Amino acid sequence: MSASALFGTYARSGLEFDHGEGVWLVASDGRRFLDCGSGIAVNALGHSHPHLVEALKTQAEKLWHVSNLHPVAGQERLGRRLADVTFADRVFFTNSGAEAMEAAIKTARRYQYDQGHPERFHVVTFEGAFHGRTLATIAAGGQAKYLEGFGPKAPGFDQVPTGDLEALKQVIGPQTAAIAIEPIQGEGGVREVPAEFLRQLRKICDDEGLLLIFDEIQTGVGRTGKLFAHEWSGVNPDIMAIAKGIGGGFPVGACLATAEASAGMVPGTHGTTFGGNPLAMAVGNAVLDVILADEFLDAVKSKGLSFKQKLAGLVDNHPKVLSDVRGTGLMLGLKCVVPVAELVSMAREHGLLAVPAGDNVVRIMPPLTISEEEISEAVARLEAAAQSLEQKMTLEGAAE
Ligand SMILES: *Cc1c(COP(=O)(O)O)cnc(C)c1O
Repeated sequence: MSASALFGTYARSGLEFDHGEGVWLVASDGRRFLDCGSGIAVNALGHSHPHLVEALKTQAEKLWHVSNLHPVAGQERLGRRLADVTFADRVFFTNSGAEAMEAAIKTARRYQYDQGHPERFHVVTFEGAFHGRTLATIAAGGQAKYLEGFGPKAPGFDQVPTGDLEALKQVIGPQTAAIAIEPIQGEGGVREVPAEFLRQLRKICDDEGLLLIFDEIQTGVGRTGKLFAHEWSGVNPDIMAIAKGIGGGFPVGACLATAEASAGMVPGTHGTTFGGNPLAMAVGNAVLDVILADEFLDAVKSKGLSFKQKLAGLVDNHPKVLSDVRGTGLMLGLKCVVPVAELVSMAREHGLLAVPAGDNVVRIMPPLTISEEEISEAVARLEAAAQSLEQKMTLEGAAE
């Protein structure tokens, strides 16, 4: 292989795609792949969605960038729309998920500072969490493999096992500012947090004067069949980070907060050159047009249920390959018996793309626009992949 001009940070598949149509990706050699990864939960409306293409083209012909020195076309509207349908009163736009989490962490620290508690800057997070790859967010995620070799872990992050209330109470102290959690861990392996645990977190935050931060970068924007996954629990955060699906493939993220939690974020405290630029806002607004339309989310719920049921059948039929199905809506996970990388690459050979996660789980996160027929096709392809893996095991067993 000739030396690449790129950093060696990614172990890429080698599959090059030429274009996409709905839930399908077409490789340069013409092969068609059913996309059950959505570019890691990003292409919420699939590829080349006409409404998004139109919105981007129209904006591209008008104005690309003015910076946040001026009001930016579309920001006020997208911010208002997000606030209207959530717990939040205010929104700060970013370019990525990690930046949205950074904004969330800074907002929480600044709130405590304004309350006269500059010593309260610690954020409690949970084992298996993923909050991004910046220096602060790798400290928040707490995973050794992402921290190694990058200097001292940024101070102010304390981690406890998910679901462990006692450990949580132990770690909360006079330095604690906030608790941050993904309602369903994505990278961690589609691990769902029980609603009761979120309720406990809300109570602890209220009792102790802490802010509750939800990282809905992966779970948000309709992925689970609700606009945001925390709606399943009825528990509202004070601050929430979103990204991925809100841009439908255009890089955009946002930090949402209540008026109280965001009151300290006054002029000069935070900023971004690109965040919330006109192109991103045009696409974000177009994504909401579709996702907030009547019955869209109900359809995601019912498609998610039927997909999960079919995957449960697949698990039953292939106990040597799969052991469990988990998740909500179209954020599904298959717990593997075989190494997850083997299932992902075999599925690819059968024309289906999925995303590996922690806990030996493969994530099934198709565009929310997937049809029932395409769900059946996805299950058939996964079935074929499971059969191929079983055949391989039988052959390898015979060879021993
Ligand atoms: C993807 C993700 C992030 C990081 O988003 P980037 O856009 O890659 O910076 C943070 N938190 C969660 C839960 C994610 O899924």
